[in-house]
Amino acid sequence: MRAAVSHEALPSVLHSPLLRDRGVRHAFSTRHGGVSDGPFTSLNLGGSVGDDPARVAENTARFATALGCDAARLYQTSQVHGATVWTPSPHDTPATARAVDADALVARRPGDAVAVRVADCVPVLLASPETGVVAAVHAGWRGVAARIVARALDAMNVPAESVIAAVGPSIGPCCFEVGPEVAAQIGDVGGPGVVLEQPDGRNPHADLWRAVAWQLAESGVREVDVLRRCTRCEPAWFFSFRRDGARSGRMVGAIVAGR
Ligand SMILES: [Zn+2]
Repeated sequence: MRAAVSHEALPSVLHSPLLRDRGVRHAFSTRHGGVSDGPFTSLNLGGSVGDDPARVAENTARFATALGCDAARLYQTSQVHGATVWTPSPHDTPATARAVDADALVARRPGDAVAVRVADCVPVLLASPETGVVAAVHAGWRGVAARIVARALDAMNVPAESVIAAVGPSIGPCCFEVGPEVAAQIGDVGGPGVVLEQPDGRNPHADLWRAVAWQLAESGVREVDVLRRCTRCEPAWFFSFRRDGARSGRMVGAIVAGR
């Protein structure tokens, strides 16, 4: 089946007011504005979830247009819930990037865009507006436990106090139920108040937004914008792995290097 090719309707994307006001090109996708259907309706940006590759390619092209970047320089890696940070070289293409296992990407060359795919995990965008160095981080609970945000910040190699950050749509403390072992790990690395005990012997909830913001503050980042949009609570806007299962779409958080 051939996907319709039309740029008449650009995808609906969300922005961080903090990043936008400092002139940082970035976007968090929603599920609106693409050509996929069924559980992938409509802007699915995940290539390995069972959707038609031609539609994912069209969705990606539309998202690149909405972001304001060249789709040939929009890099995404293979995400493995690890803590590896990767930077594209001038020889890399979107295809070579996909062969790299990494959960954080740093970009320095103006015009390079880096993106992470999520469907409940936390997309974190970092920018140093003075230097134009940026990062995109995929932070699920394993990434939070591995302090991947601090690792990405180190890899940017700019003063932390010059960095601004945005935490995009992802599963909120309202919905992120975890077992006691995961709660303990997040509690160890996420600062106070990140584990929310529930009444009647139910499993605790974890607040990954708060944990990421705390880790950034500990690293010296002064300004963090948490969008506070829960993917599981808002089926009209977002895909959610916990709500919809493995056969569901993926969204991205993406950011463009350069001033
Ligand atoms: Zn929720």
